Amino acid sequence: MTRIFSGVKPTGHLTLGNYLGAVRRWAQSDQHRADALFCIVDLHALTVEHDPARVRRLSRQAATLLLAAGLDPEVCTVFVQSHVDEHTRLSYVLECTATDGEMRRMVQYKEKAALEQRRGGSVRLSLLTYPVLMAADILAYGTDEVPVGDDQAQHVELTRDLAVRFNQRYGHTFVVPKAVHPPVAARVMNLQDPGSKMGKSDDVSSGIVYLLDEPDVVRRKVLRAVTDSGREVEYDRQAKPGVANLLEILAACTGQEPGALAGRYDSYGALKKDTAEAVVELLRPLQARHAELCADPGYVDGVLRAGAERARGLARPRVDAAYRGVGL
Ligand code: ADP
Repeated sequence: MTRIFSGVKPTGHLTLGNYLGAVRRWAQSDQHRADALFCIVDLHALTVEHDPARVRRLSRQAATLLLAAGLDPEVCTVFVQSHVDEHTRLSYVLECTATDGEMRRMVQYKEKAALEQRRGGSVRLSLLTYPVLMAADILAYGTDEVPVGDDQAQHVELTRDLAVRFNQRYGHTFVVPKAVHPPVAARVMNLQDPGSKMGKSDDVSSGIVYLLDEPDVVRRKVLRAVTDSGREVEYDRQAKPGVANLLEILAACTGQEPGALAGRYDSYGALKKDTAEAVVELLRPLQARHAELCADPGYVDGVLRAGAERARGLARPRVDAAYRGVGL
């Protein structure tokens, strides 16, 4: 059976980008067609300045939101990365397979390191090695497919390179995984800055729709989205990135094609209004289910405990084999 692995970082509240780019497919398709593991990758939240209590709170909130989005612990495995030691065990061995040069070429490292420096902070070493830990997350489980937004494409490519290199040097140990991106909304952009992706820890938070935003907050953010010069509603990511982003969001919410939708609008205002309502409707059931789950914290704890146990059992033999392979 196909094995799927993917994750979310508890570095901020989950966004519409996380949902449309990844989580929705995990719930609607991936968990039903494969043996799927979904992980709250909390170790990755320590790669930038963090508040311990906030990371703990956000991990829990992310787990609750994944369940609210429809992940069913009866058919898939939901767990927290730091509960399973195999991830860090394997990460070290992969650090001995990766090179300094290939880490420094990672676009996300360059962007995030620059951001940390602009904020006056220092760059943690773990920010540089983060893609190696991500490779360990994936490779520990013999993963075939990694369903992610396209911001993660380079990291999955690195994971493939490390798997191939390790297998060549030490004998076949890892499955070489591939990234799978959604056809629409693979990269939802910030509504206030359509040149950059909607990331949960960005500075321009008025351009980010969070999954737990109240309907009126969603409406305000979408109606104030930056649009482009001119008046024509056209689907052109280069010339009209703001409008294209709204069309993609609306298309992803309603199951239509962004290009076809463009022809139905003769003003930006009408497009924004429909997009806002589509997002409100998309989030409504998820928010209701989240409120129910918050009333039953013992349930979420139980899911995470069982998830970690299963994950540990799956990862250990392969990580042990990797240790033997390198001579330990
Ligand atoms: P973030 O950048 O919000 O911290 P994570 O690294 O936690 O996101 O990623 C969780 C999942 O959401 C990944 O599969 C990632 O590719 C996807 N994702 C994140 N942001 C976006 C976006 N703006 N559009 C589409 N997918 C996204």
